[in-house]
Amino acid sequence: MGIEEKAPAGFMLTSVEKIVGLARKSSVWPVTMGLACCAIEMMATGTPRYDISRFGMEVFRASPRHADLMIVSGRLSHKMAPIIRNVYDSMPEPKWVISMGVCASSGGMFNNYAIVQGCDHVVPVDIYLPGCPPRPEMLLHAILELHEQIKNTPLGVNREAAARAAEAAALRA
Ligand code: SF4
Repeated sequence: MGIEEKAPAGFMLTSVEKIVGLARKSSVWPVTMGLACCAIEMMATGTPRYDISRFGMEVFRASPRHADLMIVSGRLSHKMAPIIRNVYDSMPEPKWVISMGVCASSGGMFNNYAIVQGCDHVVPVDIYLPGCPPRPEMLLHAILELHEQIKNTPLGVNREAAARAAEAAALRA
C-alpha cells in the first residue's frame, strides 16, 4: 500500500521545492525600469483598473536590491545598456526578466545606431512580450506565464551561471 492510501483524508504531501516555488511566484517584486512609451502601459498595470496587486506584486521597487523582476519596458539605448546591466547585477538571485514590447525585444522600428537591437544582448530574458505597446492585459498574461516558470525553478540553481556554462559548452562543441 502506498503512503497516499495510508495517510488520513485531508493530508497533503509535497516537497520543499514546490512550496518555495509557490511562495516565490506569489510574491514577485518588480524593479522600476521604464525606458520609453511601453512604460506607460506598465504603469497602467499598477492602477486599480488592472490591479496587479492581485498577483502579489503591486509595489515597484526603487532599489534593485529589493527586486527580483525586471520589466524592460521600451527601447533600450546603447547609453542606457550598461545601466540596466548594473541594475540587473544588483538584483539578488533568483531573478527574472520580461522584455516588454517589440522595441525591447528586437529594437522594433528603431533599427539605428543608437538602439540596442534586443535587450537580450545585455540581460538574459525569460519572457518576450510582443506588441507596440502591449496592453496591460498582455503584460498580466506575461506575468502569469512567468509565474509558471518561477514555480518550476529548481532550488539553489544560479540560472545565469547555468546559461553561461551552456553557452560555453555550445561554443566548444
Ligand atoms: Fe514605444 Fe512601441 Fe517601442 Fe513600446 S514597442 S517603446 S510603445 S515604440
